[in-house]
Amino acid sequence: MPKYKHVEDILKIMRNIEQVRNIGIIAHVDHGKTTTSDALLAHAGILSPKLAGEARALDYLDVEQQRGITVKAANVSLYHEYKGKPYVINLIDTPGHVDFSGKVTRSLRVLDGAILVVDAVEGVMTQTETVLRQALEEYVRPLLFINKVDRLIKELKLSPQEVQQRIVQIIKEVNERILTFAPDKDFAKKWLLDPAKGHVALGSAKDKWGITIPMAQEKGIKFSFFVDAYKTGNKEAIEELFRKAPLHETLLDMVVRWVPNPREAQQYRVPRLWKGDINSELGKAMVNADPEGPLVVFINDMRLDPHTKRLVATGRVWAGTATAGKEVWLVNAGKEGKILQVSIYMGPDREIVDYVTAGNIVAMMGLDDARAGETIVDINYKDQAAPFEQLHYVSEPVVTVA
Ligand code: GDP
Repeated sequence: MPKYKHVEDILKIMRNIEQVRNIGIIAHVDHGKTTTSDALLAHAGILSPKLAGEARALDYLDVEQQRGITVKAANVSLYHEYKGKPYVINLIDTPGHVDFSGKVTRSLRVLDGAILVVDAVEGVMTQTETVLRQALEEYVRPLLFINKVDRLIKELKLSPQEVQQRIVQIIKEVNERILTFAPDKDFAKKWLLDPAKGHVALGSAKDKWGITIPMAQEKGIKFSFFVDAYKTGNKEAIEELFRKAPLHETLLDMVVRWVPNPREAQQYRVPRLWKGDINSELGKAMVNADPEGPLVVFINDMRLDPHTKRLVATGRVWAGTATAGKEVWLVNAGKEGKILQVSIYMGPDREIVDYVTAGNIVAMMGLDDARAGETIVDINYKDQAAPFEQLHYVSEPVVTVA
């Protein structure tokens, strides 16, 4: 396991925008969003600030801690290596399930990709469709995790062939919705899920394993292996699945491989989501996620720090570099403000840093007039400032695809 001597090492990964991913997990109620997040938190590396000054190992959280964190943290930064390269993956909290206050849309705005969790037995449900539609409208690329495949065998007693048919059917149903709801047909086609390419994982969040087709081929795991494991209730075989195909690795590999990095994503997301002039200096800096450009941050979360009792604004830096002392314009509030402190999430904790560059998630103190949904810009660019598109809400019931 790699060790870090200093927070500077993390900032270095964050400065290299190709090594950053901003993601969330979305699902119909009870399909396994919490269990999937817990599996990621328990086993993926989190960046630990605890051992100040010394070499800091990656932490792994125990179950007690994870439960609390999924409830409490606005963001958890995970560490993941893919093909020998380190990545910072921000797992941004999206509120429980569909809510109509705009919180879901707001948090989707800071993500570039989402893992859609679908229960293998229930398949695509109303809220699956709603959250997927919301993600697509925000130009967030969906990937799919078909969860609870154990139920297909234990409860429905399906044969390997029938399991396969069920999986194919769910992918088809999700793809139909991608085609229907993506606001831009070019994206719809590009984002259609192709299991052969590894856009889809299937497994059990409860038993903490998951595989994609390319991975199953690479590791020689056959459909019949897990079907037999659950049919016979063979605990050792199920543990072997966890050892051979741990869910956190499968999902994070999928994220690194298929979720665009923040710069790639901003090239198409800014012109479609931001209301300002993309040919202005500010607009260009946003499209390019330019760390040297004027600062623009979209705040998706405001909450009290339990220790200091001060308000912490969490958001995504779309352009420029956030630093303490920076004077900013709060676009929606129509007020001036000043960033007093800048920090990054290391695991679920915050660590104060000197700067946070474009493409990353920042936590800031000092912006007490901001509300979630606020856009802040460098005060010198007040004239070019514009909010992100008005938040719009998807109302249920949505159109169903025949
Ligand atoms: P959420 O509402 O989407 O956050 O769903 P949860 O993660 O809370 O899961 C809902 C229920 O499904 C819980 O009772 C979980 O234990 C159960 N669950 C989650 N993953 C699996 C799985 O892989 N197999 C089975 N059989 N149950 C699961």
